[in-house]
Amino acid sequence: MTTVYNFSAGPAVLPEAVLQTARQEMLDYQGTGVSVMAMSHRSDTFQSILYHAEQDLRLLLDIPANYKILFLQGGASAQFSQTAMNLAHGFARIDSVVSGNWSQIAHREMGKLVGAKVHLAADGGARYGFLDVPPPESWDISPDSAFVHFVANETVHGVQYGRMPRLADGLPPLVCDMSSEILSRRINVADFGLIYAGAQKNLGPAGATIVIIRDDLLDRCPDTVPAVWRYKAHVEKQGMYNTPATYPIYIAGLVLRWLHAQGGVDKIERLNRRKAETLYAAIDGSGGFYQNLIAAGARSKMNVVFTTGNADLDKRFAQEADLVGLRQLQGYKTLGGMRASIYNAMPLAGVEELVRFMDEFRRRNG
Ligand SMILES: *Cc1c(COP(=O)(O)O)cnc(C)c1O
Repeated sequence: MTTVYNFSAGPAVLPEAVLQTARQEMLDYQGTGVSVMAMSHRSDTFQSILYHAEQDLRLLLDIPANYKILFLQGGASAQFSQTAMNLAHGFARIDSVVSGNWSQIAHREMGKLVGAKVHLAADGGARYGFLDVPPPESWDISPDSAFVHFVANETVHGVQYGRMPRLADGLPPLVCDMSSEILSRRINVADFGLIYAGAQKNLGPAGATIVIIRDDLLDRCPDTVPAVWRYKAHVEKQGMYNTPATYPIYIAGLVLRWLHAQGGVDKIERLNRRKAETLYAAIDGSGGFYQNLIAAGARSKMNVVFTTGNADLDKRFAQEADLVGLRQLQGYKTLGGMRASIYNAMPLAGVEELVRFMDEFRRRNG
């Protein structure tokens, strides 16, 4: 049997050890006689699962005590507007940085249902064709804005802030979509007002969205916003305002425990760098057969996009790779080419196998 490596952009690869544990515990979670899927979210057992998931996340990212952690639903897409509904009340302006597909969608969604106008603080499309990210020094932001929104890693375009932006004191809180990179590298949580991430890229299955919010920001949201959309309502009920996505939270908890066992974020960051360097070296060393046009400092360490420049050949690449167990390498539907998503759970061996296939494919077609 061939070993399968899954390069899907999301829902994405999960650690095999996590899936093994989930399988063992599927019908009977630790002697309770009940599956996690079928137990009350208010049971002591599930409360403990949620508590440990939160604590593990807090430890892994070194999250300060004045930040609350929530596991919400609706995906990162819900956060595009939920952030504004909660943080922009009484403000005239939101600053929004566009650096790729997801920040562009966020930019369009953010101003709906709120009075604040969304100001395009930087346009990575017009300026760089999404082949580089607008540097924070170039962002046109106002101290009076409700917040500044950006996406740390653009999953579709394969661009990432190599150095994580931070704003000077006195500027509005930074709100960041880290869906496709959370826990892939060391960050300083205190530099952000709010961080959110859909679980299905680097953290677990689809269905849970992590929100990490500085607690003073909770009071910005008026009671006229329906409770299910109000972060504070979820915080006040310890994440039990309504039924949370219990099974995705359980799996995310297993992934967090797995990450601890791997040596934590610093260790995985080193491995992620090695994986990305291996893959980009193969692209750059292919004598032009494979290309990645992204500026060196903005090349994503999570989503590596590349192309042969020939749509038919690209298609054949993904098809033939699939036959040897290298799955889901086709590029995003509107961009074409190839995309290898190499999240935390992708082992170095998977990247090395991909590089071997790339060399062999080039020899046959170059
Ligand atoms: C996948 C993704 C999203 C969308 O997530 P949904 O869970 O489908 O809403 C948003 N932002 C980024 C950076 C993503 O990678």
